[in-house]
Amino acid sequence: MMPIEADFKIDESYLADERKRVIKLFSRSKHGLAGGFADAPALADWWNNQIRLQDGKCAYCETPIRLIEELINREILAFRAVRGEGRRGPRLELERLDASGPYSSKNCALACYYCNNDKSYIYSAEDYRIYFAPAKRAHFESLLKKLSGN
Ligand SMILES: [Zn+2]
Repeated sequence: MMPIEADFKIDESYLADERKRVIKLFSRSKHGLAGGFADAPALADWWNNQIRLQDGKCAYCETPIRLIEELINREILAFRAVRGEGRRGPRLELERLDASGPYSSKNCALACYYCNNDKSYIYSAEDYRIYFAPAKRAHFESLLKKLSGN
């Protein structure tokens, strides 16, 4: 564990913000609701429980999302600007483990944008974890050294 990690924990205020964001994002989107989630608040409940289960980390590279957010805030890492959605990068995203399966609590996890975008529809969750997630993790760790070095 990196020493700076303690300063970027998931806390109740973060979870409250995520709940608002997820409800807003998915209320006007069929994305994520076509599968096993009854409505946006139900998805938000699952989402925050999942953040706790994953300890605030990406399901693939296992980098804490709040550290990724800090890398973006410090302009060490680029994000993707998306019209209507703001920035992709600083928050965890809904990821289907099996991209051909439904959006449901069993088939979803939360992943960082960088893994989610990279895995896309191309790789299985298992192959992504084995072959690509370690490279993502190593890259984030190299960037995080710049944070703790400052
Ligand atoms: Zn990741």
